[in-house]
Amino acid sequence: MYRHELIVIGAGPVGLAAGIEAKRAKLDFLILEAGTVCQSLVEYPIGMRFFSPADELAIGGYPFPTPHDEKPTREMALNYYRKVASAEDLPIRTYERVERIERDDGGFTLHATRLPHNTQVRYHARCVLVCTGIWGKEKRLTVEGAALPHVLTRYDDPIRFWRRRVLIVGSGNSAGEAAIRLADADAQVWLAVEPPALEQCKFRPFILREIQLRVDESRIAPLTDTQILRIQPECVDLRCAQGIESLPVDFVLTLIGLEPNRSLLEPLGVAFGADGKPAHDPQTYETNVPGLFVGGALSQDGFIYVARERVRLAIEAIRERIRNR
Ligand SMILES: Cc1cc2nc3c(=O)[nH]c(=O)nc-3n(C[C@H](O)[C@H](O)[C@H](O)COP(=O)(O)OP(=O)(O)OC[C@H]3O[C@@H](n4cnc5c(N)ncnc54)[C@H](O)[C@@H]3O)c2cc1C
Repeated sequence: MYRHELIVIGAGPVGLAAGIEAKRAKLDFLILEAGTVCQSLVEYPIGMRFFSPADELAIGGYPFPTPHDEKPTREMALNYYRKVASAEDLPIRTYERVERIERDDGGFTLHATRLPHNTQVRYHARCVLVCTGIWGKEKRLTVEGAALPHVLTRYDDPIRFWRRRVLIVGSGNSAGEAAIRLADADAQVWLAVEPPALEQCKFRPFILREIQLRVDESRIAPLTDTQILRIQPECVDLRCAQGIESLPVDFVLTLIGLEPNRSLLEPLGVAFGADGKPAHDPQTYETNVPGLFVGGALSQDGFIYVARERVRLAIEAIRERIRNR
């Protein structure tokens, strides 16, 4: 069994930021990552542009220059985080998914599966910092037909939808961004939102502006005050302000949010808040299980510029805990 003072689970932007802080705090630590570095971003749509400027995505004090100060794409961000991880020579074990965590007197035993041969490996750590994010568990509609094969909860390349009829469901930035990108890939796009007007959705101002441009050019058809009633192989039954009752479509793309995967934490007795995320001390990011900390999107810090700062609090608390034992 491998033994460390700290194990960080997840090498997303915040897991990496935590690793840099742990290294600067001279902790003996390891990062376990189910995929590759920033696997979550690898799975974001190809060519996706972040809505935050590059300096808000930067970690560890490493500058993140982009041409003409433009907002970074998925590819730029992946390149940046890869370079930071290499420059810091962070001890990351990629393709090792933590399956289970057990408590013992001296800390925690972590059971992981190592790809490609599904080798079972065990680690021991005095403290664990869970930075597994919320990517990968998409919320689904609860109507009849929501599990049909043409109902998708994510997409990779907009070109897949070239000249196909796509109903996008969602009133957040991901849905808005998808509507823009699919319209630009010559898909026929309907954007179904719950509020009575696009202005009342959660779109960032620049996303709303881009949607409205395409609405004016008849490249996105907005459906407001929409309730999806049933999805059938060839059409969607709905109620909306535009009076449409049955919409013929090829694909339905539901982008209605993500929820945290609780399977690692629940068996340990971690308490969860009303938002489904683990409750924690806001000063230390420790959960109700002593020695078990959370960081990043899993801990409610949805923006990288917030999470990268706050994960320092967790590392500081972990350092104190280990030194004072
Ligand atoms: C489409 C989209 C656009 C976004 N745009 C912005 C933006 O412009 N600005 C901004 O600040 N934020 C943005 N976000 C949110 C931002 O991406 C997240 O806040 C950020 O990725 C959180 O980082 P994290 O390290 O906490 O988690 P993640 O990035 O989700 O990383 C978690 C990592 O943990 C790994 N993992 C999961 N389970 C296990 C396990 N059991 N064992 C080992 N490893 C595991 C995953 O493979 C993953 O690599 C966006 C999100 C989406 C979906």
